[in-house]
Amino acid sequence: MAALLARRLGSLGLMRFEVSQVLDAIERRLGTDPALGAGVIDVAEMMYCADLDGGQGRPANLLRLGLVIDALARQVGEEQVYAYCVVDKSLLSNQDLTSNERMVMRRWGDDGLVEVVPGAAQRVAEISDLTGLPVISRAMPATWAPLPGAGGAVLNPRASIPHGPNQVGARMMSRWWKCPDPECGLFGPMRRSAGLPVPRLRMAQPSCPRHDAPLQDGGPRPPQQVLAVRVDGVIRIRFVVTAAQPVVVGRAPENGQGVVLGHWLGEEALAKVSRSHVSVSLTQQGIQVTDLSMNGTTVRLGGAADGELALSKGAHRVLGASDIVELFPGVEFGRLGALSSTRSLDVSSVVAEAPTMIFRPT
Ligand SMILES: [Zn+2]
Repeated sequence: MAALLARRLGSLGLMRFEVSQVLDAIERRLGTDPALGAGVIDVAEMMYCADLDGGQGRPANLLRLGLVIDALARQVGEEQVYAYCVVDKSLLSNQDLTSNERMVMRRWGDDGLVEVVPGAAQRVAEISDLTGLPVISRAMPATWAPLPGAGGAVLNPRASIPHGPNQVGARMMSRWWKCPDPECGLFGPMRRSAGLPVPRLRMAQPSCPRHDAPLQDGGPRPPQQVLAVRVDGVIRIRFVVTAAQPVVVGRAPENGQGVVLGHWLGEEALAKVSRSHVSVSLTQQGIQVTDLSMNGTTVRLGGAADGELALSKGAHRVLGASDIVELFPGVEFGRLGALSSTRSLDVSSVVAEAPTMIFRPT
C-alpha cells in the first residue's frame, strides 16, 4: 500500500514538473510589444476550448494556450513567435483552474508579459484595431479560429490579415506612456522588455489597461523597424532596431545583449559566425548594417543570390527594402516581410515535449 502510494505520488510529482515546464515554455512566447507579436488572444476563450485536447480533460486548462501558440507559430512560419495575450481579471479567481494556473497568470500579469484586464474580449478587439494584430478566436470576428488538428490545434483562416495599425493606434504607439503606478509591469519603470503595449482608450484618453488610470505622455518614441532572423530556412525570431541604439547580431554578442544566434547554428556556422558579427542601426537613411566580423558579411541585394555585396570589417551598407543580410550560408536576417520560412516548422515547440497525459483529468 505504502509502495503504491509512493508510486502514485511520484507520478503526480512528475506530472506537476511537466506541467510547469510547459507553462515555462508558454511564458517564453508571451509579450505585450505589438511589434513582436503575431496575434492577439483572449486567454479565457482558449482555456475552455476542450476539443483541442480531445474534449475529455478538465473544462478549463491553461495548457491549451500552448497548443494555440504552437498553431500560430506554424501558421506564420516563425519558430519563436510571440502572442499578445489578454487575461480576463475574473480568471485570477476562477475555480475551474488550478491554484498554480491562477498564480502563474497573476505573475505573468505582474511582469507585463500579458495584460490582466476586466473585459478581455473587448480589449482583444481594441488591440487588434489599434495595432493591426490578427485576432485568434472562435467567439469574435477573427483572422484565424483555432480548431483541433495536427499537433493539437490548427488555425483556420476566417478573414484577411489586418493592414497594420489604425491612425489612432499609430499615433499612440509613436509616443512613450507612463503609468502612475510605479510597479506597473506594462507602462512602469519596471517593464522588462523594451517595447510598449498599446494604451487602452477610455473616452479618448490613453489609459493603462491594468490599472485603469490615465497614462502620462512621455514624449516621442524613436522610430523603429522590425527584422527577422532566418536560420536553415526557418524564421527563428524577430528583433526590433530603434533609432536610439544599434543592435548587434552574432553567435553570442557581449553581455548577452543583442541577438544571440548560437543555439541555432551547426558546427560549421558556429566556427564562421563571429560572436559579434554585424551591427544594425536605424539612421536617417534607413536600416544600416556594419560588419564587425572575422569572415565578413554578404548583403544579397533585393534578396537575390546574383546581386551580392561583400562587406568586410568596418564596412557598412544601407539596406534596400528586400535586401537580405547573410552572416554565413543559411544564416540570414532582413526586414520582417522581406524573408519568409522556406520550409515548414518541424515540431510544435511549446508543448512538443509534453506527453498527452498532462491533459487528462487530475
Ligand atoms: Zn499600469
